[in-house]
Amino acid sequence: IPGALLGPAEIRDLAGRLGLRPTKTLGQNFVIDGGTVRKIVRSARVSPGERVVEVGPGLGSLTLGLLEAGASVVAVEIDPLLARELPATVAAHLPGLAREDGTCDRLDVVLANALNVTELPGPPPTALVANLPYNVSVPVLLTFLERFESLERVVVMVQAEVADRLAAPPGSRTYGVPSAKAAWYASARRTSTVSRSVFWPVPNVDSALVALERREPPATTASRQEVFAVVDAAFAQRRKMLRSALASLAGSPERAVQVLTAAGVDPQARGERLAIEDFARIAQAIAETVD
Ligand code: SAM
Repeated sequence: IPGALLGPAEIRDLAGRLGLRPTKTLGQNFVIDGGTVRKIVRSARVSPGERVVEVGPGLGSLTLGLLEAGASVVAVEIDPLLARELPATVAAHLPGLAREDGTCDRLDVVLANALNVTELPGPPPTALVANLPYNVSVPVLLTFLERFESLERVVVMVQAEVADRLAAPPGSRTYGVPSAKAAWYASARRTSTVSRSVFWPVPNVDSALVALERREPPATTASRQEVFAVVDAAFAQRRKMLRSALASLAGSPERAVQVLTAAGVDPQARGERLAIEDFARIAQAIAETVD
């Protein structure tokens, strides 16, 4: 539908009218290209009537794409100016959704820091689709997968390097804490690279789309927090062998060797080789052997 999405001129006009000065701290780079928005919406396979949560709707570029595809959107925005303006933008571009009181059908706007949101209005969302603010992309992603169990899949645009890390398999160069923790919840795939030229203002990094499908967490009697503590310890000292990296969690280097052996993991290995299932077995062995 031509006209439903925001282009470069509209983004600049809207920002000018609002007196908006995009800030780096909030990762405010707005998508000015309808093709990119449709690509995100397509790869999220949003179905009509589906409840989608969007973090950081900004000026509404992606929100309009999601609404155009028939989704019902709950949008969480930290910037009061942007949160306030969103329904008016939607009403102007998709007039069929406008209500008399200034709100819109199929749209809820929550003014909040996404990291502090513990509940969302309306039906539980089954997808998170967003162009995430750079500096909080990983915490937002992990927090939402943790707090909103209804989320079955996620399609987010993040810094290209973060996308690589999220999708990295054990043993690869970019495998690290975000890869292991994301794997607790979901399997991640980097789908495509997005040029910096589709944003205003133009950021100094490229972006990429990552798609995550929720899966069952590894079977273990350890809690997620215990497993994540092992992940953090293993990568805090990346160059160290596991038996040293896990010494304080296990109680002593000797205990660490015992625990690793019990978990079937080579004490001389390094964390970067282990899958989330291995971290889960180690956490369980720590809980079982440390008194
Ligand atoms: N979705 C829009 C688009 O694609 O053009 C804007 C994306 S922009 C990269 C990120 C947005 O997230 C900005 O609107 C910013 O104000 C918002 N934001 C930044 N930190 C946030 C946080 N902690 N919670 C919620 N929104 C946040």
